[in-house]
Amino acid sequence: MKKISLLIPVYNEEESVDALYAALLPLLDNTHPGLKGAQYDWEVILVDDGSKDRSYDKLRELNGHDRRFRYVRLSRNFGKENALLAGFDRMTGDAMVIMDADLQHPVDTIPEMIEQWNKGYEDVYGRRLSRGKESLFRKLFTKAYYGLLNKSTRVDVLPNVGDFRLLDRKVVEAIRGLRESQRYTKGLYCWVGFKKTGVDFQTADRMAGETHMSAGRLINLALEGITSYTTAPLRVATVLGFIISILSICYMIYIVCKTIIYGEPIQGFPTIICTILFLGGCQLIALGIIGEYIGKIYNESKCRPPYIVAEESAPADVVKIKQENTRPL
Ligand code: UDP
Ligand code: MG
Repeated sequence: MKKISLLIPVYNEEESVDALYAALLPLLDNTHPGLKGAQYDWEVILVDDGSKDRSYDKLRELNGHDRRFRYVRLSRNFGKENALLAGFDRMTGDAMVIMDADLQHPVDTIPEMIEQWNKGYEDVYGRRLSRGKESLFRKLFTKAYYGLLNKSTRVDVLPNVGDFRLLDRKVVEAIRGLRESQRYTKGLYCWVGFKKTGVDFQTADRMAGETHMSAGRLINLALEGITSYTTAPLRVATVLGFIISILSICYMIYIVCKTIIYGEPIQGFPTIICTILFLGGCQLIALGIIGEYIGKIYNESKCRPPYIVAEESAPADVVKIKQENTRPL
């Protein structure tokens, strides 16, 4: 029987855990009508990303109640991207479905994804038809961002496609091999390639609590996306430098000629100030861009692990062996 792993990062989601369990149960029991009678082995890997509420206790409770639910607790909040990697490292299934704990990703779409996987697709991504309750700022920002990102790289990052997707074991193994600690998983899915297809879904509103993606976090992730995915900004700085240099040389020739032909009393103070300020600004921007990349090199050169595990449940097969050993002879 084929085995499917579900990977769910959890950060301060104590109010959603019970509803999540209830929503997943028909799938795990293979009674979901979407499965059309197909039978699968299931495991759920819940990665507690350093929650500050009672999420972790809830996950442990769940594991005690139903062994198909495994948990991993990271030693602090490493961010969703790194929490996902902790799950990738632990999957034992033939395929893995990644979804959010807040039930914004509908469980009913999973059978459709599995169907596509059975047809031979290795990366079945969920395409958001609507973005649920989101601020106007976030909607506009996302749109502009994907436009920019796709213009600056050869590998397309799809807009309206998030982390809700099914990955074949091969894809998970490929992503596992990419150990950078500043991760932009959405870019990695595209970078590794494989046969992709999409299924549509409607984003639900958050089950409970608030989104963790504040404007600041989103901007950070966006910068991470651009700098870890492409070196185009460095090229933009170079091209801009060239253009400004050429314009300056033309202007210089013009001034020299003008002075020789007409003679020139001392003037042009505003022009000098404007030029100095403009060039100063350009240089600072270019330095900032270079700095972003150097910062990345610095962080990666420390070779720190992308996440640290504080505690985890015994993997399902270990549990089975233990139970067998304790059986009376
Ligand atoms: N999450 C996480 N670590 C974080 C932030 C979020 O593991 O530092 C998880 C969170 O528990 C949820 C998923 O990532 O399961 C998506 O987070 P959220 O709903 O806040 O983001 P949004 O849906 O608004 O993009
Ligand atoms: Mg959410």
